[in-house]
Amino acid sequence: MNLFLYNSLNLKKEEFTPLQQGKVGLYTCGPTVYNFAHLGNLRTYLFEDFLVRTLLYNGYELKRVMNITDVGHLSGDMDMGEDKVEQEAVREGRSAWDIAAYYTDAFQEDLESLNILAPDIWCRATDHINEQLDLIKTLEKKGYTYRTSDGIYFDTSKFPDYNRLSHLDLDELKEGARVEKNKEKKNLTDFALWKFSPVGSKRQMEWSSPWGIGFPGWHLECSAMSLKYLGDSFDIHCGGVDHVNIHHTNEIAQSEAATGKKFVNYWLHGAFLNISGGKKMAKSDDNFLTLNNALIKKGLNPLSYRLAALQVHYRKPMEYSEDNLRQAENALLALIHQVASLKDEPGQVDEVYQTDFQMAINDDLNMPQALAVLFKMLKSDLSDSDKLAGVINFDQVLGLSLLNQVAARTDIEEIDMSADIQSLLNKRQQARLDKNWELSDSLREDIKRAGYNLEDSSDGQVLKKI
Ligand code: AMP
Ligand code: ZN
Repeated sequence: MNLFLYNSLNLKKEEFTPLQQGKVGLYTCGPTVYNFAHLGNLRTYLFEDFLVRTLLYNGYELKRVMNITDVGHLSGDMDMGEDKVEQEAVREGRSAWDIAAYYTDAFQEDLESLNILAPDIWCRATDHINEQLDLIKTLEKKGYTYRTSDGIYFDTSKFPDYNRLSHLDLDELKEGARVEKNKEKKNLTDFALWKFSPVGSKRQMEWSSPWGIGFPGWHLECSAMSLKYLGDSFDIHCGGVDHVNIHHTNEIAQSEAATGKKFVNYWLHGAFLNISGGKKMAKSDDNFLTLNNALIKKGLNPLSYRLAALQVHYRKPMEYSEDNLRQAENALLALIHQVASLKDEPGQVDEVYQTDFQMAINDDLNMPQALAVLFKMLKSDLSDSDKLAGVINFDQVLGLSLLNQVAARTDIEEIDMSADIQSLLNKRQQARLDKNWELSDSLREDIKRAGYNLEDSSDGQVLKKI
């Protein structure tokens, strides 16, 4: 079955044809490790996981690379400001290397909690300084670079079609630009390939180079590492939609200027997770919600967030609210219940539902539609054993770990639930009398995990089986 993906390069859905039959090279921009990933970042990694699993479901052999940005991502736009990792190191009183290692581990744990498949290759910017220096040398030889007092820059006016991905009108951009802070830049869109360490101060992360001691510009690492691991041209490159205009546009410019070949055939971008009012969730704001503080600490299953992300197409903005998360948690519990009620061994996957499911995911990763096929199949008059086979098959892409969750539930159900729930209800009643709302909420969640929704009514606490 053909696979269609929306390509930001051409602004349309296109049939996916890999460079090499049956094989896909995929690069996904990774995190800047100066803090925990927030739910917005994780939405992007979930969308990429839907893509990975869809490609695998279609039988492709995948080589997937994800970078870890541990140097060079500056706090300001236009190559200004502080290095985010070094800045955090000062704030926390730890070394920049410690900060990067700590938040890399935390990020990888988040991916595991969300059942996101790990890439084949993880690569850190600081482990690839030589590759980045080589790339600058090539660009220098070809005449694309110039020097300013604070670094080596890429001259975007020398690269034809610089706006090929962003589709921005560059003249309009110039007119609309706020006061340009770096007066030495030849063009507004030029960007740093190498930044010099500030005069008179020593950075924790810095390297010598033919141009002076310093560190690589942020965009450079993704070009250097994708060219190294996936070759001069590869199939798919992804990230959040905020990467289109600058980061990915600059990656194309420096990679193609260096190799003279087309860098990437398909560019895919995920829409934002917003907080109410349409504001993007961002690390620099106080609307910063992590998997840990928004779900795990509240007793919610991290996979509820995965289900919430499946319910919104990846190119549509998704709105965060605690209510939405709780609804997703309920929906996940209900689904686990349904699957748990299929009392049989897996039989055959029904061909009609399987085709519908694959058509949905192959239509630019239409996961809401894929979920609808799953629910329709569960409601159908297929036998329990064929339904179970369908669940197992579809869950390869959905990644909700449904059978594992059913198995975990069975363990819970073996204990005497009636006594258990009664004691939870008693504790909750006391918590409400004590006005301890946090404890009361967390007990409500425990009761939900045992299979009941709890409503507070004039008759007291009312249980409803999920
Ligand atoms: P960063 O760690 O800032 O480099 O971002 C990691 C990834 O998260 C990038 O692909 C961003 O495009 C993406 N991202 C950042 N904010 C959001 C958001 N609110 N919603 C969805 N993706 C986001
Ligand atoms: Zn990148």
